[in-house]
Amino acid sequence: MVKVLETFQKTKNLFIDLLFPKFCVGCSGEGEWLCSKCAQNIVPVVSQVCPKCGKLNAQGRYHVNCRKGIALKGIIAAAYFEEGPVREMIHNFKYNGVTALGENLSVLMANALARNFQLSISNFQSIPNDQLKNFTNENYLKTEKCKIENYILTFVPLHWRRQAQRGYNQAELLAEEVAKLTGLKTAALLEKRKSTKRQAELSSRSRQENLKNAFFVKTPISLVGKKVILIDDVTTTGSTLNECAKVLKEAGAKEIWGLVIARG
Ligand SMILES: [Zn+2]
Ligand SMILES: [Zn+2]
Repeated sequence: MVKVLETFQKTKNLFIDLLFPKFCVGCSGEGEWLCSKCAQNIVPVVSQVCPKCGKLNAQGRYHVNCRKGIALKGIIAAAYFEEGPVREMIHNFKYNGVTALGENLSVLMANALARNFQLSISNFQSIPNDQLKNFTNENYLKTEKCKIENYILTFVPLHWRRQAQRGYNQAELLAEEVAKLTGLKTAALLEKRKSTKRQAELSSRSRQENLKNAFFVKTPISLVGKKVILIDDVTTTGSTLNECAKVLKEAGAKEIWGLVIARG
């Protein structure tokens, strides 16, 4: 049933693409979902902050004093939510079926990851995306290539009912694209068994309560000693990413990092 619904949604989205012309989500100009002029207004995050207190901290790490009850090492954000077309890109990608924007968004994410984890630029050379050079930080050309084999990419899962309604999981699409760009391996490690209320409608305390026992590790593979990069579209308080990180840690993961398009 889920598969049938998903296929229906995908087919529907395909027809929408064929019947309706594309309009830039930033300026409404006809022709593409994101025109090159609007793409230039995207502001990538160069200096990451501690997700708890908001003060600058390399790689978006939690400060020692900000880490109480937190399973994540840190959260890396790729771009500023309020700048340029980022908010509209995320909204259309997530709610209006414009999955094509996932490609642009994941370029931003891959670059943020590269900058913060010092991945080699050689992983990026094959991308035929002229936007890439706008976000490439020359500094990481000079850095040592880090051992990316130790990292696994995964994503925040949706409850099956939500996924069937939407036809896709936006975080999963981003993870697949980021994997292609970076050469990292991706795996669907998590499952969401409880249908929860939208986090945005809740206070910080009820957010945690809402997510309690919602996520489970479904993978039969061992996570012992593995470093996991957990992808979601946006984060506000970090509670969803942290709840996922908690179960990954219980399953043996050594280090868990959040990677998002932006802080909403
Ligand atoms: Zn535009
Ligand atoms: Zn802090």
